[in-house]
Amino acid sequence: MSETSNAVLNLPALRAQFPILAERIHGQRLAYLDNAATTQKPEAVLRALDNYYRHANSNVHRAVHELAARATTQYEAARDRIAAFLKVAREEIVFTRGTTESINLVARSFLQPRLQPGDEVLLTGMEHHSNIVPWQLAGARTVAARITDDGEVDLEDWHRKLGPRTRLVAVVQVSNSLGTINPVAQMIRAARERGIPVLVDGAQAVAHLPLDLRELDADFYACSAHKAYGPTGFGVLYAKREHLEAMPPWHGGGDMIRTVAFDGSTWNEVPYKFEAGTPDMAGAIGCAAALEWIEAQGWTAIHAHEQGLLDYATPRLAEIPGLRLIGTSAHKVGVLSFVMEGAHAHDLGSILDQHGVAVRTGHHCTMPLMERFGVAATARASLAVYNDRQDIDQLVQALHKARRLLA
Ligand code: PMP
Repeated sequence: MSETSNAVLNLPALRAQFPILAERIHGQRLAYLDNAATTQKPEAVLRALDNYYRHANSNVHRAVHELAARATTQYEAARDRIAAFLKVAREEIVFTRGTTESINLVARSFLQPRLQPGDEVLLTGMEHHSNIVPWQLAGARTVAARITDDGEVDLEDWHRKLGPRTRLVAVVQVSNSLGTINPVAQMIRAARERGIPVLVDGAQAVAHLPLDLRELDADFYACSAHKAYGPTGFGVLYAKREHLEAMPPWHGGGDMIRTVAFDGSTWNEVPYKFEAGTPDMAGAIGCAAALEWIEAQGWTAIHAHEQGLLDYATPRLAEIPGLRLIGTSAHKVGVLSFVMEGAHAHDLGSILDQHGVAVRTGHHCTMPLMERFGVAATARASLAVYNDRQDIDQLVQALHKARRLLA
């Protein structure tokens, strides 16, 4: 591990590593506050992608020539680095297209074959659609724990719903719409006592929280590279080895087989059994570069900076007349979801865009959560490690202008 002991970030130097932050938007400075949707990429990641295509590109695992060897070595080294970042074994890391595909894999290959009529998947009311719909497609009933007014899981309700019909627990570690950090370790222990397997949706956690999946002891953990400074279209499913060994493959094709014959085929070892077809080699290499980049900044410094910025932003937003923050847990990352009286979230988003401020507006793929708070949509500013106070000031000024125009 290359964690440094930095306590404070050199923010101007860090920002300079993200070339896109210098873009002008409608003639304005860019305040990129849409990081929960996707983060921007540092030079280290851009270089890793570029180097791969310039010097190593070839298909992996299937040839003896030099470029194929380079591609395979770099691709498998990326698996080692990603496994080390998550503190698990390389055989437990399945490469996917992202969190969504990782969850679908578990729904199809783990849950569906075990499902009895009436079986339930216990969720929370703040899950992303990608942690709801795959379970429904697999044929399970989805049951969700109540969300409190602050945007936390009502643990009493969750415990009450953890019952004899619960076949699996699935929970988001950090909410993309609220920022809430859920007590997943505690939830995993409670499920484990009843022998119920747990999947954690880590899409919004990887960039913000140090992870030790061995210690966390979830059965499954799903995440995406692009939410943590890595490339789009690449993600990871961590699964305990015993599960991967027992699960049938879900996609058939090249690389996932040991032998193929017309009267039947046999499967490759884990994790390759789940990786049919030509993989995203550059994606894996870019993901590993992104995780190394995160570690090089140091978790202490990342945490101090992001929490400091959240503490700076929260009261400034809260004091804007007519603005209501949704998601006010004391345990949260830098996500500021809000509605403004008399203003539609999309109109708000368009006005902010005219001022160079990129936020997301809509239901954020959490329709049940929007319903819980009685809104159709929110505007959401979400922070990353490269955001600074100027970004927040730009947002607040633009919101004051929007209020005068709309409210
Ligand atoms: N879960 C959460 C909490 C998310 O924020 C997202 C992305 N918005 C996903 C799952 C899905 O991730 P992806 O689109 O990268 O598959």
